[in-house]
Amino acid sequence: MIELQEVSKQFGATFALRPTTLAVKKGEFLTLLGPSGSGKSTLLNLISGGYSSSSGRILLNGSDITDAPPRKRGIGMVFQNYALMPHMTAFDNVAYPLRVRGYSKDDIKAKVTDALKRVGLSGFENRKPKQLSGGQQQRVGIARCIVYSPSIIMMDEPLGALDKNLREQMQDEIKTLHREIGTTFIYVTHDQEEALNMSDRICLMNNGAIVQLGTPDELYFRPINRFAAQFIGESN
Ligand code: ATP
Ligand code: MG
Repeated sequence: MIELQEVSKQFGATFALRPTTLAVKKGEFLTLLGPSGSGKSTLLNLISGGYSSSSGRILLNGSDITDAPPRKRGIGMVFQNYALMPHMTAFDNVAYPLRVRGYSKDDIKAKVTDALKRVGLSGFENRKPKQLSGGQQQRVGIARCIVYSPSIIMMDEPLGALDKNLREQMQDEIKTLHREIGTTFIYVTHDQEEALNMSDRICLMNNGAIVQLGTPDELYFRPINRFAAQFIGESN
């Protein structure tokens, strides 16, 4: 379980995230939903260690990781722009986090093969990113994340660069992956339909703060205020 206790992030005088308390349950699929600039990526960066917090504490399974270096946190990240290394093959991109962690060659081969299989990319091991479609590149990004079995998987608008049909297909693939591996997922989107389709719970954000936290049904049928009603209802 991951817990944020009154965690905030300020840049100068402005709060990217106001003091926020949030507990993400083990194995849950939690989606951060909100408009541009609402603090979604800031929250992820605070959990991953990309940003240091201005106040508060972050606990992972009871241990304080507030000041732990990013690589020690065991948290995996998938980015909107894939962030693959262009000169490396799919295999080597996925192998990278294992190599930096000192895994043996045999272990690396077995884990990378399994991760690529899970995302439907067996046979694509030797392709470089530019020889792959956008969806395939993001599958490599997902494989690179799951390959070392992080205790939490975070995805920041992973489907944002893909067209609508592919987005829907990959939403299903990500949900299936979540069911299969059972890891805690924290997923970011500004698309309310995507959040309603995928999540166990949705954390609706605005202006660097949580507006409402609840199941898709709770947010859809019992929005807490006008902002929530308008934001969740926008697709109708
Ligand atoms: P988007 O949907 O556009 O990705 P977001 O919800 O992820 O938006 P954040 O990136 O978390 O929003 O940004 C929240 C606020 O913090 C914004 O007003 C942003 O300008 C500000 N902010 C984020 N990172 C920095 C930074 N490194 N320096 C200064 N301000 C920042
Ligand atoms: Mg963002």
